[in-house]
Amino acid sequence: MSPELIALKRFSAKVGCDLTLTQGAGGNTSLKQDDVLWVKASGKWLANAEREEMFLPIDLARVRADPTAAAPLNQSTLRASIETSFHALLPQKVVVHVHSVNTLAWAVQRDGEQKLTTLLEGLPWAWIPYIRPGPPLTKLMSQHLQGAPVVWVLANHGLIVAADTVAEADALLYEVERRLAIVPDHLPSNEAALATYCRDGQWKLPKYAVAHQTALTDDRVQRAAQGSLYPDQTVFIGPACATISSGLTGYYEQWRMDAKALLVPGAGLLIAADASAGAEEMVACLGLVLQRLHQSSDVVFLDHEEVYGLMNWDAEKYRQGLTRN
Ligand SMILES: [Zn+2]
Repeated sequence: MSPELIALKRFSAKVGCDLTLTQGAGGNTSLKQDDVLWVKASGKWLANAEREEMFLPIDLARVRADPTAAAPLNQSTLRASIETSFHALLPQKVVVHVHSVNTLAWAVQRDGEQKLTTLLEGLPWAWIPYIRPGPPLTKLMSQHLQGAPVVWVLANHGLIVAADTVAEADALLYEVERRLAIVPDHLPSNEAALATYCRDGQWKLPKYAVAHQTALTDDRVQRAAQGSLYPDQTVFIGPACATISSGLTGYYEQWRMDAKALLVPGAGLLIAADASAGAEEMVACLGLVLQRLHQSSDVVFLDHEEVYGLMNWDAEKYRQGLTRN
């Protein structure tokens, strides 16, 4: 294994262990060496990058010609990340994609691009309007290569940085984080008041206490209950969080599915007792993002069709869901 690939694994594990950058299987990193693109496998957690084999060798020229041609060159049965094609698209050797909570807090705002123009001044960067991850995102990015961006802010999605060495990518990522950092408004939760909702075994306290932040002001509750801000929130927590006031029946009637997170305003958040490890990471991420958003910010949500598309509902099921009463 080359020293640069070892360095990529070490850096990936560092980024993967930081909840403000990566949550669960979200985020991915890559390295181009000659004709090979080493990219993280789908579903793997960057946090385990030094403990587990998760980087797949992909034929760079092939995947550049056809974004769906990402079969590994070795015997691995793993699948390359859905986001492999943008790693291939970018000319730099090292590409890092994270769901940074600081970036997300800007990238969900209607005037986010305008605000970032000042904060990212001097760095070649591009703002990419929201589009479904995978080949559609790569296609849109390919239309924004002018100016050779090294920083990409993906609206309602996250951040990409690119450089020619792991050390440079590491430095660039933390430079962007420094510029986009927002001091979180951290409020006290009340776990004792949540105990009563855990008795029937349907709900439990979240693994990360920061998840409670979502329930601690009226504007956060309203935003979490209104819809979904970025794809991984949708995929792991569903279209929105339920609240005690709207109730679980009301939630089902609105969204045609059971809630995975329940907000008790002023006290905290409960997560479904059978929630996955990924869902635990995602409710923490939501708390981290919402505590960085000002009450007055104009926030953009994913539209409903996009949300149901992300949850793998086919058009028919979606339509039935909307018309059933
Ligand atoms: Zn992503």
